[in-house]
Amino acid sequence: MSIYDDLGIEPIINASGSVTRLGGAPMPPEVVKAFADAAAEAVPLDQLQAAACRIIAEITGAGKRAWSPRGPPRRSPWAPRRSWRASIAAAWKSCRFARDFPTNSSSHASSRNGYDHAVRAAGARLIEVGFHEIVAGAGVRRAEAWEYEAAFGPNTAGVLYVFTPDSRPSLREVAERAHRRGLPVLVDAAGGVPPRERLRSLIADGADLVAFSGGKAIRGPQATGILCGRRDFIASAAVQMLDMDDHPELWAPPQEFIERGKLTGLPRHGIGRGFKVAKEQIVALLTALRLFATGGYDTIVRGYRPRLERIATALKGTRSVCQILDRGDGETFPQLEIAIDEKALGRNAFDVCRRLRQGKPPIYVGHWRLDQGRLMISPMNVDDAAAEVLARRLREELS
Ligand SMILES: *Cc1c(COP(=O)(O)O)cnc(C)c1O
Repeated sequence: MSIYDDLGIEPIINASGSVTRLGGAPMPPEVVKAFADAAAEAVPLDQLQAAACRIIAEITGAGKRAWSPRGPPRRSPWAPRRSWRASIAAAWKSCRFARDFPTNSSSHASSRNGYDHAVRAAGARLIEVGFHEIVAGAGVRRAEAWEYEAAFGPNTAGVLYVFTPDSRPSLREVAERAHRRGLPVLVDAAGGVPPRERLRSLIADGADLVAFSGGKAIRGPQATGILCGRRDFIASAAVQMLDMDDHPELWAPPQEFIERGKLTGLPRHGIGRGFKVAKEQIVALLTALRLFATGGYDTIVRGYRPRLERIATALKGTRSVCQILDRGDGETFPQLEIAIDEKALGRNAFDVCRRLRQGKPPIYVGHWRLDQGRLMISPMNVDDAAAEVLARRLREELS
């Protein structure tokens, strides 16, 4: 029996990982309990966000770095939590407020992606920097740090930097050039963890604001995210997303979170209001973040490789070759890559993927290498029982 039966939807085996379209990461029991407990009581959201700030700042080291384009450096750790999307949108707004009349963001061409809509929705116009000649097959170079500097103009509000382990130029180099011009760097690191040390290292490398997804490896509610960084930007982003339906005479956000005296009046709802996050999501995310940051998932992750090995063993003798991709750092999830002998099988990887989705139970495998004839198996949402069914179905389809 599934709660989804009533809605006429059949639960799937998700072998794709924490992808949003399949519901994201599984929430651990502690996180689900925190969600339920938080839902049972009422608290003012600005107080809850301020408390979240303290915890996130402690874990990420946010706000400690002393850099400010205008005025003396500040030392205050701040970081509210919200959806990743709201984080980026509100973060962008906060960068705008920090400048006179800025509209542009520089971002290297190879990092443009569908998610940068969040920044554009907040009013930024993205200026692409450099070329990605390796992907174009036209050369050996990628975007270079000097090209950022050359692209900065009077309307530049900051830099949007999408972080992956092989993003080039490095965040450090880009941040250095941006800071020289008094420009902040907003980092999209939605998928940047694990390893968990990245919760701190991006800020240490010079990011002024970093947005992490809360619903991927951190295993918080799927619609959550974390924005951490400079205190003044965080306060500005908070004002963009808090519910502002109060009397000016009564509005009293925690002073260390939002300095009321710096505002001309009580702002109206900002762009982040459209992506509001509930108290139970915030509490559940904080619970998940603490678990993630203290190695609370390490045992689960250690179980992934043996499970993938069992699937690989079950596929021996089929028209496929299995390989486990594993960084072996104890934190990054191993993946099982299944290379299909499409000719011998008489079907290509897209056909196999489709048949798995349409089978019983429906199975969704990682689809990012289908064009190379490969299925990818991500273990995050696959428990022992699911792994057994998955192995059987793969065997049927690949024999
Ligand atoms: C996953 C991802 C996002 C979106 O994060 P969500 O928490 O799913 O909204 C944004 N940017 C990048 C680079 C991502 O990988």
